[in-house]
Amino acid sequence: MLNTTLPPMRPELVVCPNSACGASGRIGVHSTKERRYRCHTCGKTFAETSGTPHFGLKHPLWVVGVVLALLACGCPVPAVVFAFGLDERTVADWQSKAGQHAKTVQQQLVCQGAVDVGQVQADELYTKTQAGPLWIATAMTVFSRLWLWGAIGWKRDGALLEPVIEQVRAAAQPHQPILFAVDGFRAYVTSILKVFRDPLHSGKVGRPRLLVWEDLQIVQVVKHRVGRRLVRIERRLVHGSLACAEAIMQATQVDLGCINTAYIERLNATLRTWMPALVRRTRTPSGRRGQLEAALFWTGCVYNFCHVHATLAGTPAMAADLTDHVWSVDELIRYRC
Ligand SMILES: [Zn+2]
Repeated sequence: MLNTTLPPMRPELVVCPNSACGASGRIGVHSTKERRYRCHTCGKTFAETSGTPHFGLKHPLWVVGVVLALLACGCPVPAVVFAFGLDERTVADWQSKAGQHAKTVQQQLVCQGAVDVGQVQADELYTKTQAGPLWIATAMTVFSRLWLWGAIGWKRDGALLEPVIEQVRAAAQPHQPILFAVDGFRAYVTSILKVFRDPLHSGKVGRPRLLVWEDLQIVQVVKHRVGRRLVRIERRLVHGSLACAEAIMQATQVDLGCINTAYIERLNATLRTWMPALVRRTRTPSGRRGQLEAALFWTGCVYNFCHVHATLAGTPAMAADLTDHVWSVDELIRYRC
């Protein structure tokens, strides 16, 4: 039988809807029967349906939380619409807002120059849409399995990769040794060398020379196939030193072997199963690119902060020392940027 008991009221998750107040602390339960809260800052009481921070005023926060948890794990929007009797536009709106929020969380917690990124793997995946193939570029750090950033574009080119590489740099500790393991796509090398460089101030007038980050290694992992059969994996050091590249690889991977792109390929496979828009070749007109980006950031951020990784005994964000506990989806939603 269906459990129809309402979940407990959670005053700690609620923001005061009084626009002159907006307090997020000092809120208590006013009545469990009427499901109303009281704000101790302004003294007003309000219904639980109006205490939702970013997600409209018509639905209780717990519904928003459950829906967003389902969306993060790839539950299709029509299933959510059917199960909760929601309007499709409402669900799309929550997903957009969650995606925007997740992007800000990534920017404020991940891309702040504090992550020991060590080995970075970057890769692209594509999905067919009615408007043509859509490319998704992603990057992660191997040691903590932290997803760093993603970008979506109609073309597989430098413009797709560069914002991702820029955020990798933003996340990395200044001038730490880094190994990039990428596929044979030439634009990676160009983008990485463009982003990872600094002006050398010589004291002379004019534009300073730009110097590439000193301890930077780029290894291309190129898979040669005959038909679908993989016949040979070629590894090319295109920048830096092989000895440094090997040392970083050994320090960041548990299962050793050769430098590879297996970690990002596995993460992208996970993203594929968690983002149904990628898997199902349904209508994705150009206007849906933003929705797909929202889905990517929401899924990526939930993966970083809420999902316990089997081999890490914690979340990627914990392994990267960005937090000390597993976040609930509610906590992620209410995180104040
Ligand atoms: Zn208030």
